[in-house]
Formats: sequence, structure tokens, C-alpha cells
Amino acid sequence: MSEQQTIYERLDVPTVVNGVGTKTRISGTLMREQAADAMREGAEQFARISDLQARANDLISDATGAESGYVTSGAAAGLSLAAAACIAGDDLDAMSRLPETEGLASEVVMPRTHRNGYDHALRVGGADLVDVGNSDYDLGSGSKNVELWEIEAAIGEETAAVAYMAKSHTQPPLEEVVEVAHAHDVPVIVDAAAELPPKSNLEKYTGVGADLVVFSGGKAVRGPQSTGILAGRQDLIRSAALQHIDMHAVEEVWVSPHNLFDVDDLPGVPRQGLGRPMKVGKEEIVGLITALELFIEEDDTAVLAEWHERAERIADRLREAEALDVSLADASKTEAVTSVAVTVDESPGVTAAEAVRGLREESPRVYVGADDVNDGQFTVNPRCLTDDDADYLVDRVLSYFE
Ligand SMILES: *Cc1c(COP(=O)(O)O)cnc(C)c1O
Repeated sequence: MSEQQTIYERLDVPTVVNGVGTKTRISGTLMREQAADAMREGAEQFARISDLQARANDLISDATGAESGYVTSGAAAGLSLAAAACIAGDDLDAMSRLPETEGLASEVVMPRTHRNGYDHALRVGGADLVDVGNSDYDLGSGSKNVELWEIEAAIGEETAAVAYMAKSHTQPPLEEVVEVAHAHDVPVIVDAAAELPPKSNLEKYTGVGADLVVFSGGKAVRGPQSTGILAGRQDLIRSAALQHIDMHAVEEVWVSPHNLFDVDDLPGVPRQGLGRPMKVGKEEIVGLITALELFIEEDDTAVLAEWHERAERIADRLREAEALDVSLADASKTEAVTSVAVTVDESPGVTAAEAVRGLREESPRVYVGADDVNDGQFTVNPRCLTDDDADYLVDRVLSYFE
């Protein structure tokens, strides 16, 4: 066997040419080289996980403007820990009972139009979701999906938090939701997993008063795929840490991580918490710290411009095919990046769905965006492609429409 083989060749697993973006099922992002180096180096020595988390805490609080920060095994795990922190607070007994919530205020109010597949992660953390609002905005009838009074009316004795999915189109504005929640002493959890770039969004949600915010480490930050960032109020991050860090410890010899929690303030050692199955290794924490430092230094306007240029080049080449109607879709409600929108003229006998599926069955697998494939459309997102990948992808796409 040649030493030139890649790990994927040795494992006989096809690689993916990624024209979709940072999707978990096709492995998120390409980690920054320095982050991968940091993981390799980090793997060679022991370090205490709570010391690493304390170090990450400093960086994340600087980067986000939040009081504290913590590294999770993804933004979704961050949502579980956020819910658990809002429900349990400093109560060690509540921590040990979660996700069972009998007798605990465990309701999390969430506008119905913010509900999404990741809210399961809040439920894993013990949240009983309470929906408010409807989808009237989509009727074009002139009314909103959710009124502030509806959120306010749903808050009561059983409420642990309000949850908010941050997207450029989500309503009501976060600052108004925060105002209502805080008037009732209820914290607000914000899912901003994919809202980077721009990097200024690291501070945006904390800036308008969100109590806990999650970001993915394996999307724009380009850290390890299985990392996330939880940023927020010091007392809530303390609760999250106590429910996450391995707790097989003896009180007499338990040494506090300086800025996460103080053992002397606790009645004893907590039990292994709800977060324990979502553990984060030393390699992931050093990888995330390294990637986040680089993300903060990066000129994100230049990165967006590079993506835009790549999208233009891809679009120009796809226009060679007469069967394809190609346009550039500006940064949209779900993406900060320009992408290429392609409509297939069915006349050559190949439908968009057939081509998209055929591409996925190739080796390497070629992925283009298929959200509107049943309307004869697919998209190409430039952010996870090199220029060589982009050329290869275009060649493969064109081969279906010659
Ligand atoms: C990607 C994403 C998540 C999950 O993030 P992970 O880091 O993969 O756990 C949660 N919510 C939204 C809106 C996302 O886009």
C-alpha cells in the first residue's frame, strides 16, 4: 500500500466535494490547519479539562462580551446545557435529577416560527417547550407570526427560559423579547449556531441582552467539527460547567478551576450531570481555542469577497450549458454568502433531482444544495470549495447536461 494514500483512501471511504456549505452530515467544515496542529500537539500531554475550559472561558468572554464562556461538543449540545442551566441554576439536587423535571420550573417559551430540528436539544436538557404564535405572516395577511404579548402571556411560575432562534428574518427583534423576558426575571437562550460570519455577530446577541448564546465551532469558526461555543451569564455558565465536567471527585482534594466555579461555594461535589455524555476532549478544546483566535483576527470582508468571486466564476462556467438557467443569489436569510442558483430546463431529459442524486452517488461524492430540487432547482455554495474543487464540481455538473 502506497504511503501517498490519504486516510480516506486507506479506509476506502469516498470523499465529498462540498458545494453545499457547512452541513454536519457532510462533515461540517475544513478545520484550520493550525487548529488541527493544535489538536495533534494537545493530544501528546495531559491537561485538566476544567483548566482548559477556564482558559476558553477567558477567550470566549473577550470575544463575545459575555461574562463567561464554555466549550461544548457542538452548538446543539450548548442548547441542552443552556436549558439545563436555566432549569437547575445552582441547585445540585435539580442537576442530579435532570432531565426529569418534576417539581422544577422547566418550561421554555419559544415562538412557533422559531421551532426547528435543533430544539430537540433543548428538550434533552429538560425543557418542556411552550409554543407561542402562529404562521400568519406567511399568509401575507398583514399580521405577525408572534406578538410580544403572546410571549409575555406564556411566561409564568413554571418558566425557566425563553428560547430564540437567531436568523436575519426572525421576529420579533431579540431586544424586544429580551426586554419582556427580563421584566419577568426569565433568561433568554439564543441559537446563533450558524450566524457567523460576520464576526461582529459574536458580540451582537450578548450586546442586546441575551443571557446564553450558542455558536457552532465547526462552521465558520473552522474549529473541530464536534465543538460549539456557549457564552453568557456567569451564574448560568457555572451551572452548565457543573453539569458537564466529569464529577468523579472527592471534595477534600477537589481544586477549583479559577474562573468557572469555586468549590468552597458548593455544598459538596455534584453528581455526574446531564452534560456528561456530551463530553469535550482536550484536543477539541485546544482546537476550538486556536480556531476562534484565528477567526477573530481574520478579515471577514475579504473572506466574503473571496466566496463571492468564486460564486461568480462557478456561475459563469455553468452558463456554458444551454439547459441551465444560472443566477447569483445574494446572501440570503440563511446564509451570509453569495450562492449560485441553477434552474434546470427539463428538455435534455435529465431532471434536477436526477442530476443532484447522480452527483451524490459518484466518487468523490459531489454535493450541491437540493432544498428546491423538486422545483427543478439546485444551488452551489462556494464557501467549502477550493478553486480546484469548484472546477471539478462544475465539470461534473456539466457532464449531466451536455
Ligand atoms: C448547525 C446548527 C445547529 C447545530 O450546531 P452543531 O454545532 O452542529 O451542534 C443548531 N442550530 C442551528 C440553527 C444550526 O444551523
